[in-house]
Amino acid sequence: MPDDNDVGGRTATAPATGDVFGHAGTEGFEQVVFCSHPPSGLRAIIAIHSTALGPALGGTRFHPYRSEAEAVTDVCRLARGMTYKHAVSGLDCGGGKAVILGDPATLRSEALVRAYGRFVDGLAGRYLTAEDVGTTQADMDLIRRETPHVTGVSESLGGSGDPSPATAWGLLHAMRTVAEQVWGSASLEGRHVVVSGVGKVGRVLCDHLAEAGARLTVADVVPAAAKAAAAAVGAQIVEPDEAAQVECDIFAPCALGAVLSERTVPKLRCAAVCGSANNQLATPADGRRLAEMGVLYAPDYVVNAGGVINIAEERSGTGYDHDRAWARIAAIAGNLRRVLDVAARDGIPPADAADRVAEERIASMASVRRIRTSNRETGH
Ligand code: NAD
Repeated sequence: MPDDNDVGGRTATAPATGDVFGHAGTEGFEQVVFCSHPPSGLRAIIAIHSTALGPALGGTRFHPYRSEAEAVTDVCRLARGMTYKHAVSGLDCGGGKAVILGDPATLRSEALVRAYGRFVDGLAGRYLTAEDVGTTQADMDLIRRETPHVTGVSESLGGSGDPSPATAWGLLHAMRTVAEQVWGSASLEGRHVVVSGVGKVGRVLCDHLAEAGARLTVADVVPAAAKAAAAAVGAQIVEPDEAAQVECDIFAPCALGAVLSERTVPKLRCAAVCGSANNQLATPADGRRLAEMGVLYAPDYVVNAGGVINIAEERSGTGYDHDRAWARIAAIAGNLRRVLDVAARDGIPPADAADRVAEERIASMASVRRIRTSNRETGH
């Protein structure tokens, strides 16, 4: 295993300047690591929120943050979200995330990506990285040359490849649970679904929905993307700003976060919201607002977990198996059912119920982990 000096860099759990220990975002974190490699310009932060359920899994975001404080806030928010996503999905993974500060278009280089890989390796498997906004599968393949603690590498390297089709597959199954809950049947035949954002996930989702007999409306800020999706599945096109206001059965936000806000929720004309975008609720109050309006909200991190379930399958011990992974992703239908049942039982919005299910699993597994199982642990 390389040490920091191999890359001429340094890691630190304390900040060069500022008050990181007092930074609100880092509260409750197991470890927040700052990585710097001046020769390549690498500045990265790896946040390990929890390893209570297993190694902290989460992607690496490459983004030109306006400040280091903004980057710390973002990486911690994202890492905490991964803890909940993995817990509710029944995975043996904790929550982590990393950010590389800078513009990937100008800063990316082999040296930078591999230097980052060495820092990941230095965490000895406590953190497993993956692709995220701004990083690519080619980056993961480069990182693989420095550490085994990377997921989502190319299929030719034994990985599971692009997670987006898996995410879309999981969403389809989540929508069946939504249909069962709202209309008493898991069939999506004849249901009108508005897919806002037809990128890597949204586009594949449209194919699945068309095959399931749903009627589709699509929107995308890139007109060519909307046109291509519409032509492929016979969908109508609406302007991105109007997508959330179309009268429909299911609104599927598959682009940006914070689409459900004080401003947009009152304008919704759908029976349910179920999409891939992360952090769809602008604030927790918006989850309550949706419930009050009688709109069923399928919590984002429950229904968009197909990608991480697929990635986790790479570490099954027997190698990645597509059919087994797809079967596990389909179980998202049951994960969402459990969350909706807790919401009904406890009289709380689904978003709060998802948090409750996740926290209960983390607490119960923490007690299992306290059982001593080896001579090493007992000191004999
Ligand atoms: P993507 O970048 O491939 O697709 C996003 C699409 O949304 C693009 O076509 C873009 O032009 C469009 N878009 C951007 N702003 C828009 C707007 N205001 N209105 C309508 N369309 C808009 O990304 P993706 O991989 O398909 O991911 C979509 C969302 O799902 C993201 O929020 C992502 O974080 C989340 N997510 C993705 C995965 C995955 O496996 N890819 C897993 C979990 C969550």
